Amino acid sequence: MHHNGCVATADPFAQMRLLDLQAADTHLAQIAHRRASLSEVVRLRECESALQRVRTLVIAGETEVSDREREVRKMELDVEQVRLRAAKDQELLDGGSIANPKQLEDLTHEVASLRRRQESLEDEELALMEQLEDARTSLAELQAQRATLDVELIDAREALARVEHELDDEESHARRHRDTVAAEIPADLLRAYERIREETGGVGAALLQHGRCGGCRLQINPNEMARIKAAPSNEVLRCEECRCIMVRTGESGL
Ligand SMILES: [Zn+2]
Repeated sequence: MHHNGCVATADPFAQMRLLDLQAADTHLAQIAHRRASLSEVVRLRECESALQRVRTLVIAGETEVSDREREVRKMELDVEQVRLRAAKDQELLDGGSIANPKQLEDLTHEVASLRRRQESLEDEELALMEQLEDARTSLAELQAQRATLDVELIDAREALARVEHELDDEESHARRHRDTVAAEIPADLLRAYERIREETGGVGAALLQHGRCGGCRLQINPNEMARIKAAPSNEVLRCEECRCIMVRTGESGL
């Protein structure tokens, strides 16, 4: 043991199997990374918050429409009252029952004044009805947006469920494969590999390839290469830079 806590020797074929184990673990890490950064999650969150905004606007729009409807109804009643009073006065005038000239003149003035009042109220009613129409148009647009977003939300949920299901499948397949490979590796070598992987944050074993460590990609210095060349094939080698187990194969440049 020349590196603290690591196994000193292991069967060369078991060491090579570490490369398969590393590939399986890297694959699992990639799956976890993909799961944590799914664009489908982003899309779903965007959809949910857009829907929340539109729902709030729809409620405000509904309140606006009912307020305007109430105003229009109230104005209709006001107009009707003035119209009835003018009609009654007009009837009196037309009936010929009033002989007093002063009374006749007053009544004529009142009818004229009521007609003007009615016209002015009708103008106001028209303006209110226009506002009501605008409010209804805005509300209809918001309701259409909400309907579109409702459909998009269902889509986004389904898309996320689909991709999560695919990841679940891929992960359970990858995990079974990983377990199969791990079962073929001697316990002490496996423990060392796992501890190193924890320490390095992912790489426990890498191929020594053409004089370069596959874990950190650094060139091994000539002295160390000379020592590695002389080392027995069952010696477990560690990279001096990244500390991973360096596995020798025909590609190692030895
Ligand atoms: Zn290295």
